[in-house]
Parts: sequence; structure tokens; C-alpha cells
Amino acid sequence: MSQPGIPASGGAPTGLQAQNGAASASGSLYSNGPVQNALVSSQISVNQGYNSQLPGSYPHLIPAKTLNPVSGQSNYGGSQTVSPLSNYQGPGQTLHRPPVASNPATPSLHSAPVPRMPLPTSHNPAATPMPSGSFLPGANVHPPLNWQYNYSSTGSQTNHCPPASSQPTISGNTNLTSHQYVSSGDPSFQNNFIKSGIASNTNNGSMVVHNSYDEIEGGGFLATPQHTNKNPTMSRSVGYSYPSLPPGYQNTGPPSTTGMPPSSLNYSSGPQGFIQTPLGANHLAASMSGLSLHPEGLRVINLLQERNMLPATPLRPPVPNLHEDIQKLNCNPDLFRCTLTSIPQTQALLNKAKLPLGLLLHPFKDLVQLPVVTSSTIVRCRSCRTYINPFVSFLDPRRWKCNLCYRVNDVPEEFMYNPLTRVYGEPHRRPEVQNATIEFMAPSEYMLRPPQPPVYLFVFDVSHNAVETGYLNSVCQSLLDNLDLLPGNTRTKIGFITFDSTIHFYSLQEGLSQPQMLIVSDIEDVFIPMPENLLVNLNESKELVQDLLKTLPQMFTKTLETQSALGPALQAAFKLMSPTGGRMSVFQTQLPTLGVGALRPREEPNQRSSAKEIHLTPSTDFYKKLALDCSGQQVAVDLFLLSGQYSDLASLGCISRYSAGSVYYYPSYHHQQNPVQVQKLQKELQRYLTRKIGFEAVMRIRCTKGLSIHTFHGNFFVRSTDLLSLPNVNPDAGYAVQMSVEESLTDTQLVSFQSALLYTSSKGERRIRVHTLCLPVVSTLNEVFLGADVQAISGLLANMAVDRSVTASLSDARDALVNAVIDSLSAYRSSVLSNQQPGLMVPFSLRLFPLFVLALLKQKSFQTGTNARLDERIFAMCQVKNQPLVYLMLTTHPSLYRVDNLSDEGALNINDRTIPQPPILQLSVEKLSRDGAFLMDAGSVLMLWVGKNCGQNFLSQVLGVQNYALIPQIMTDLPELDTPESARIIAFISWLREQRPFFPILYVIRDESPMKANFLQNMVEDRTESALSYYEFLLHIQQQVNK
Ligand SMILES: [Zn+2]
Repeated sequence: MSQPGIPASGGAPTGLQAQNGAASASGSLYSNGPVQNALVSSQISVNQGYNSQLPGSYPHLIPAKTLNPVSGQSNYGGSQTVSPLSNYQGPGQTLHRPPVASNPATPSLHSAPVPRMPLPTSHNPAATPMPSGSFLPGANVHPPLNWQYNYSSTGSQTNHCPPASSQPTISGNTNLTSHQYVSSGDPSFQNNFIKSGIASNTNNGSMVVHNSYDEIEGGGFLATPQHTNKNPTMSRSVGYSYPSLPPGYQNTGPPSTTGMPPSSLNYSSGPQGFIQTPLGANHLAASMSGLSLHPEGLRVINLLQERNMLPATPLRPPVPNLHEDIQKLNCNPDLFRCTLTSIPQTQALLNKAKLPLGLLLHPFKDLVQLPVVTSSTIVRCRSCRTYINPFVSFLDPRRWKCNLCYRVNDVPEEFMYNPLTRVYGEPHRRPEVQNATIEFMAPSEYMLRPPQPPVYLFVFDVSHNAVETGYLNSVCQSLLDNLDLLPGNTRTKIGFITFDSTIHFYSLQEGLSQPQMLIVSDIEDVFIPMPENLLVNLNESKELVQDLLKTLPQMFTKTLETQSALGPALQAAFKLMSPTGGRMSVFQTQLPTLGVGALRPREEPNQRSSAKEIHLTPSTDFYKKLALDCSGQQVAVDLFLLSGQYSDLASLGCISRYSAGSVYYYPSYHHQQNPVQVQKLQKELQRYLTRKIGFEAVMRIRCTKGLSIHTFHGNFFVRSTDLLSLPNVNPDAGYAVQMSVEESLTDTQLVSFQSALLYTSSKGERRIRVHTLCLPVVSTLNEVFLGADVQAISGLLANMAVDRSVTASLSDARDALVNAVIDSLSAYRSSVLSNQQPGLMVPFSLRLFPLFVLALLKQKSFQTGTNARLDERIFAMCQVKNQPLVYLMLTTHPSLYRVDNLSDEGALNINDRTIPQPPILQLSVEKLSRDGAFLMDAGSVLMLWVGKNCGQNFLSQVLGVQNYALIPQIMTDLPELDTPESARIIAFISWLREQRPFFPILYVIRDESPMKANFLQNMVEDRTESALSYYEFLLHIQQQVNK
């Protein structure tokens, strides 16, 4: 695999070296984020008024970087904000960036909006008059600019298409970039020309060598043909795969499907069959004629009169108002959706709507069908590097116009042949132009180094506390069961580290009769003993690995060691993995107490219910710094926290957040006392160990010129401007971005968004997964409202609220959520509705907006007045940031079903299984009845509430008990009875569980059950001690809106 100029596998790529070197060289000086000086000015305008400017280095909970222009410090907050400056490729993690004197944008001068809500004040409504547009007193500041989504564009530039000058200059490819020659002449000659061009390209040694992923994702200029790895396994695909050109064609010209000799199959034969879908401005009429809105969608609703707007079936995302020919090609909303399916054509219009503009992505979702293209030519726009997609327009078969930057590009000769139809001259029918979601096999230009083996390192807490929980048994058993299912190939490597007050390594060298344990007690300066034997080839050392997994749970049963040197263990693990990168899975059961990264308890139970003064920010920057080091070496860290006590997840979680890992949390895990947690861990480990994984991934999101992405949410690190660094990417992670309209879109009717995820598969293939979404541009406020996607809006607001909680306060975030509803509905009332009717008038699209926001206020992340543990709240916030929208919504607004009368009416039939589909009910005790049984699906937990007078039939046929009193106090499983009732509910619950990557525990709840309070807590529409009922909330909103 070694290519000239590409670093050998052991060496870090230059760009990363620099970045990482900077970090490690800095030692404790390392206080700033990976932000470059040049980014400062625009940074501020993006973030001002949103992130607090705390001194100190990493005060915030969740990935974000914000620059403090005064101190020159960069802070991390809930999200990572992109500098709109183009892709400056610097040494990443900048240290002690000097203040930028010339920067005109100081907080007091810049023109970005002021945050809508000032500091929280008394929550006593009587204390302060209720100002307009605020939920809580004292929360109104003029001008009433809401939050940050109407941020000013002053001082920043779009970053959707970096200036051409910032694109890498690829000398080795330039001889192939100009394809004008293909528009004339003999096709066979053209092919020869290409071939010779390639040959010279290869022969003169000008193979492109990139030194950063930024260049790769931005580069790969018309990906050089013939460098594709021709390894036969490359054509393996998840779904179906399109072969590259048939060899005969490549050498002799297009196949003579028309019966003509190849040489006569020239340009003119193409256009005859050339019919392109109506796209672009020149097809304006066509695109706007297909109004897909159902008349229902045009209704204006008075929510005070029509309170039950919740549909009985799962809410579907709105369909963009596009011509059906375009819409049928559009990206699946499960993968890619926008808060506004009709994009306002100016920022002014967006500001008027007071709705956030952003994208929600689930880019690596498991797909049943995924077209994979192995073509040697990856066609991309020469100017902005967009991948060719269904929404480009073909001016003629030889030229296509980019839908993001409008540059006219030549169609490469090879692209003229359609491998699907085996016809020449119809580039518009190529799979790349027919599929909004597609995967490319990437040639070596898309690699910084040869693909590394999949590496899995497990780091286990074996302190006394850990042994007490008994978790090692479960985890080791699960690993034994799934060892052969770990994604990988013959090169897969595996290793283990355990730790308490010391660090233990395990030599698994082939040929040993049993694993050798090596103890390193110097945790101040951790070194790796015999590194070559600690990460071993799984195939070659499988027996030793199995030996170790069988003995490990017993090895520490007698331990009295209570200390936890987690930090040093992570440092050791990082050192071990640095050469290759890979996935580190860390299991921790307590607060780390020894060495670097040691933490102190700081949760104060009496402050749990308060909305302020809680520790949502990390207490040390150690975990963040280490995570950034890991990211630089392509290591992602997944944290499994199994702890009954406070473990400072706000600090520990940083290790996963910035390294693009995941956090799993099993509070009060115990192998005997908490069997449901054992089951949950087991099921989730099964998924975790066997799910797809991508290594050395980067993701970039591009959008049509005029739009600009400014803030990212999720677990990753923004490596350079808008390039997300994902050492690992997994199919269960979601991302969100915020956008603004930088330049008027009046000249276009359609805009597009494209995400490109470049990764190395566990089989060692370099792949690019591309999703493209196309949306219409609108010029009126009413159209903006009609196209609002209330779930996406709520999801994006939740992400923003997590940031706000961390950078300001929880009550601030809650206020902002409420104001989001008030402001948008006020805008609708004042600017769209012509006659001012009484009531709370909302567009049909936003009929659930107040309900979802109320649900967010009652969600674990943002709720007040409960005894939610701090770590549980932090975990809920991690989930908001990292979960795909569909699960976030389920966690926020659970689905309630009556299940004591399930029938097969309207049931799904999947593989001979009949799955009942009961209607979804409103979340109110009014919907419950004592003679029934109700299942609440809250995402990670299922609660089956059984009424006191529940029918005997349900008790005996489903629960297997003779009367209500015999229902066990704690019941977490349904017996499999040989009755149709039992079969139905079990089928339904199994089906719900299969839909998601995590395992929801089932609790059967009767009146005296400990879980009853949780069940009632999720009744979003009901009043609680500390929260309004839905009706009260509507009245409050109405009062504010009608002011
Ligand atoms: Zn372009």
C-alpha cells in the first residue's frame, strides 16, 4: 500500500503532527482551542451574545469554541463555531494566541444581536412586570432579537465554498483537470488521451500527497483515474454497487449498443436522448408548479380551541414544496433534514420569522440500500468541490452546472458512459446523478496514509468499586461472544489495559502459553512496556485473548485497592494507540482519584432542583486536552460510566466529546441488585461491538452560495474551519448545524446542502458517503412558516439550549426556549395574519411547537424542581447533542399507547410477524383510565402502567397474574404466554426496541411502583409542582404573543 510520498504507517501525517506537536509541546500552557488567530474577528460576530466569555481555558461542557476577543482566549462551549474564513490550515491547537489588536470586533462594537434573555432573576412573577416576549420576568431586552439564529453577517464571510486560492494546488493533477478536449474529436482518441495522461501522471511521480484531511476533502481534484485500488474486495458494498467502466470500454470506447462502431459514436448521439429533470432557475415554472402542500397544511389553527393536535401516528417530516421530479430524488429526511423546508431568500426574512435555520444529520445511519460507486472518476465541481448530485443541471451532455456555486464544469469522458444502462452519452442517468445518497470508493488521493488496521483497545477499571459492581463479567462475556463479529479484517488488532492505582498491561504475543500481565506503578510518567506485544493481531492471538477475557473477571476479586488512576491509564492507552489510531473503549465506575485528571466530588444534592449554580462545566481541561490529542492521532474514546455515585460526567465526558466518541451511562449498575442495567449493558454492548465503524473520518457540509454554516453540534472536533474531525464515525451518531443567509438568494429558486463523509471502513477501504438535500427558496414569510419542520426546529433548539445552559445558565436556556415560541408566533401573528383574531393562532406546520418546547422544558436536560442527579442531567445533555433527531424527539416527547386492547387492525406485517400499531395518545393523565394498561415509549425506557381496575383478561393473558395485587412491585419483563394478547404486546415491544440502537428497559408500573413518579413526570401536558400544564403554557404564550 505504500505510496511514494505518503508517510509510512507509523508516522503521523504532517498536518496532524504539527497539530499534535503543538499541543504536547505546550504542556500546561495549552489553554486555547484549535482556533487560529485569523479566525477571531468573524468568530465573534457569530457567537457574540451566545457564549459567555468566561476566563480560563475549557470551562464548558460540550464542544464549542468561542473566542474571547479581549483576552485572546478561546473557550469551549456547547458547540463548535466555525470561522467563516476559508480553510486556513494551521497547526490546529493554538497556544496562547496573542490578543488581536487590530480586531475591530469587540463585544461592545460588533453588530451581532444581543442575547434575548439577560441573567435570570427571581422566578416570582409578581416581582417584576412581565415584559413582552419573555417567559420569565426580567427577561426582555430590546431589541427583541431572539437568540442567535438571526445573527448578523457583519464581518464574516460565507464558508460554503472556500475561495479558489485556498484550494490545494495539485500539480500532479492539473494535467487532467482540463477536459475541454473531450468536447470534440474521436471518443476513442479521448480515451487514449486519458490513459496516457494517467500514465504520465503516475510515471512522473507527481502522485498527489496531501498533508491534511482538509486538503483531501477539499482536494482530490477530479480524482485521478486509475489510482483506484483495484483490489477485488473493493467492490464489496453495503447495498448494491455500480461497477466501474467495463475494461473493453475503457480501452476501445463506448460499447456499441447502437450497433455503430465506437468511433462513430460521437457527441451528437448523446443529446438526442438527453432529457434532464427540470432543475435550476431555468426550470422555475416547473419547480414551483408542483405545490405539494396538502390543503390541511394551509390551515391556521387556534391552539386554545384545538388543543389536541397530536397525530395518532408518528409525525412525518414535512415534504419540501418541490416539483415531484425533484422531490423524488431528494435525500431521505431520516438522514438529512432542515428546520425550514422552504428557505427564506434573505437573512432579513429569516430574522422576521424568528425561527432557527439549521440542518439535522444522521450521516452514517445503517441503510438497507446504499448505492456504491466504484468508478475511477469521482466527479466534483472544480470550484467548490461539491460532488456531482441529482440537483446539478446539465447544460448539455458535456457540461454540468454546479448547484452550489453555479460554476459550469465539463463532464469527464468516462462519465459519459452509464454503467447501469451500458449506454454512452447520458451522464444525467449515471447513479451519481440519480441518487441523493451515494457512496464512492475513494482512490488513494483521499488518504493521508495507507489505511490502518482496525484497532480496538479496551481499558477496564478494576478497582474495588469496579469489582463490586460485577461489570467485568458481563463485559468480558459479551466480548467473548462477539469477538468474531468485531468489524474488521485479517489485520484487526486488539489490546487490553486494566487499572486501579496502578496500570496493568497484557502481553498477548503469539506463542505465549498464557497472557502476561505487566504492572506499571509509576503513574506520574507512564511508559509502555513492550508496546509491540500489547496490541496484537486478533486472529493470530485469538486464544490468548479468549484466555484473558475468561480470567480477567476473577483476577481482581480480592482487591482492596479503592483508588482510580483513570487519567494516567488514558494517557497510556493514548500512547499505545497513537501510531495507528482506532477505538478506545473505557469502562469507569467511579470518580478518578489519582494522578492527572483526578477529580473531586462537587455535586450538592440540595442544589439539584435549582436551575442555577450547578456544575455543568468541566472542572479540569485534562480530558478535553487528551481528547484533542487523541483526535490528532485518529483515536476516538468511548466512555462507559457505570457508577452509583457522582462521577463528574461533565469533566469525564469531554474525553468522548472531542474525540468523536460516545458516552454510555449505567447509573447504579450492579450485577445482582440491578439486573435490568445488566441486561441493558449486555444488549447495548452487543450493538456497540458489532455495529459498523468508520476510521479516520472527516465530514464537511457544503451549501449553496449565499448560505453559510456557523455552528456545529455533536461529538467531534472542528479541525479547520468547517471540517469535522471524526477519528471514528458510528451509525448511531447525529449532528446538527446552524446556518444563516449571508447573501440574498433572490436569483435562485433552489438551494442544496451536501454532506460528505470520508472514512476508512473496517475492511480497509477508503470511502466517501455523500448526501445531498435540495430545498426551494421562498420570498414570503407565510411560505417560510408553511415549510417549517417542527421536529427539526425543536431538535436544533434543544442543541442550542444545551450550549446556553453551559455558557450561561439553565434558567437562561429555559427562557430562550420559551422565547423561541413566543417570538415566532408573534411574528406570524403580526406579519402573516391579516385579521387579528382572538386566541393563539399558529400555522399548521407549527401546531406542535408549543407542545414540543414545553416537553423540552420538562426533559431531563432542562427540567427544574426535580431531584435529577447532576450526572444524569449531563448525560441527558450529551444525548441531546449526540443522538439522531428521531431519538431525541422520543426522549423529549414520549409516545403513549393504550395496550390492553391491542388488535391486528392496521397492524404491520414484517417477516410473518404481525405488529399491532395502536394510536398515539396525548401525554396527559386524562388519557389514562383505571381499567386499562398504557405503554409509554420514552426512547431509552418503556413504562407499562397498569390501571387498578385493569381487566382480568390483560392481567392473566399478558402479565400472567391472577389479580392486580399480585403484580410484582418491580417487574421488568413480560412473560411469554401462549395467548394472542401476550403475543401482540410482545411483538409490539420487540418491534419498538428493534427500531433503535440502544436498549430501552421495560418497567411494569402499578400504583405503588417506584417508577410511577417517572411515568407521571413524562406526562408533558399535565401540571407538575414546578411546571405549567400545556393549557397554562398556551395561555402564557398567547398572553405574550397578543401583547
Ligand atoms: Zn461548485
